Amino acid sequence: MDMNPVFHQRVDLNALLDEYPASDAFEHGVFRWPADRLRALQERRFRHIVEIGWANPFYRHRWSEAGLQQGDIGGLDDLDKLPLFTSDDIKDDQQAHPPFGEIHNLSRADLAGDAYKVQASGGTTGKPRFTVFGPRDWALQGISSARVLHIQGGRPGDVMQIPATCSLANLGWAYYNACHNFLGILPLTTGSGVVTPTRKQLEIAFDLSTNLWMSFPEYLTHLAKTCREELGRDIRELNTKFLSTFLGPDTDGLLRAALEESWGCKAYDQYGTNEVGGGAFECQAQSGLHLMEDMAIFEFVDVETGVPVRDGGTGNMVVTILARELPPVIRYNLRDLGRLVSSAPCACGGTFRRMDHFLGRSDDMVKIRGVNIYPMGCLSAVKSDKRTTGEWLCIAERHERGGALRDELTVQVEVLSGVGRPDDLRAHLEGRLQSDLGIKVVVELVDEGALAAAANLGREGKAKRLIDRRSQK
Ligand SMILES: [Zn+2]
Repeated sequence: MDMNPVFHQRVDLNALLDEYPASDAFEHGVFRWPADRLRALQERRFRHIVEIGWANPFYRHRWSEAGLQQGDIGGLDDLDKLPLFTSDDIKDDQQAHPPFGEIHNLSRADLAGDAYKVQASGGTTGKPRFTVFGPRDWALQGISSARVLHIQGGRPGDVMQIPATCSLANLGWAYYNACHNFLGILPLTTGSGVVTPTRKQLEIAFDLSTNLWMSFPEYLTHLAKTCREELGRDIRELNTKFLSTFLGPDTDGLLRAALEESWGCKAYDQYGTNEVGGGAFECQAQSGLHLMEDMAIFEFVDVETGVPVRDGGTGNMVVTILARELPPVIRYNLRDLGRLVSSAPCACGGTFRRMDHFLGRSDDMVKIRGVNIYPMGCLSAVKSDKRTTGEWLCIAERHERGGALRDELTVQVEVLSGVGRPDDLRAHLEGRLQSDLGIKVVVELVDEGALAAAANLGREGKAKRLIDRRSQK
């Protein structure tokens, strides 16, 4: 097979940018379109993606099994006739049809036919799940992240430090791709704290005048503390323009407030996944995360029934990606909890609808005494008292009591050094958690730093908030 392997000749970037503009052209173009004009664009893109779905064995089998025939899906009004699938279905598909599964419809030998990039996720337990990017999909991932950074105020000449390792995980690559290929922002791909220790990260930042950061809140907090304790400097001396971060269910804004106070700049929240790239993002108005609606259709469905919830209800996010073709992503239940907060035009001028902060993974949901508990739901309670470090870990256990089994949830909360174990703090946290979670929990106060290993704090990747010690299957 003869093929020109040069990436930039495999994708017509100018044509792609006309279809999916990146910076200014995005902000003043489709991002401000009225709802009906946007809907017409989504309709056109949706019909194209459904055609691709019918030609794909993964979807064709599923849709046929659901009793659908080609032609049954005429447009977006028929969207909810299409069956949902989850990451478990992709894992099963890739196990049955290694390595990429029928969803990619791509064999190992086909890799000679284009310039591909493979990323993986979910490798912490069991086999990783692969996602293949063709040149167009790889460019789109950069464009979606570039849009986010542009709206938040990133401009040519800025220097963005990206303390995430460019591994098979996507995050570091997506920001690198956005900064370098679409924004004229200098990306400093320093890798995680394992690759470049925190003190060194800070020295590089001061040497090269880093003014933008992409990282998780736990690591940003760690950077500010290390700067003070090891360099004897205030992190605010960096004059950071903004932080691009992932606030999680920070519904009271306490996590954001703490970051903004220690860094002396705005902290913007966003939401993304391997498949979607930049899926939702805060603008400078910080009033909800705009959904990337010309690239994807987002739905919120009931966790148990899969039926779309009415506007404003919390549900699993379901995405249909209009932009990417490899793999096609059509009604993918991300099992991430979200909630639509506004369909009105935003103060920033954007019209893309807005959702609340990412509220947690419904995968991480535990049922305790019949109540669904999301471990991330402890965030506001834990941060509500300044004596805590803001870190916590939930432990679910099953105890025998009087011959009956009873599930208990213990929430370990770190307290600052020197605070001790005050009863009033424990009582305050237990009261607040009972009101936020809807069940009575036991709070155990632990020393500052005690949860670092178990909760994966100060390292790359997301913090872990739950250990389930009940009978493992
Ligand atoms: Zn806005």
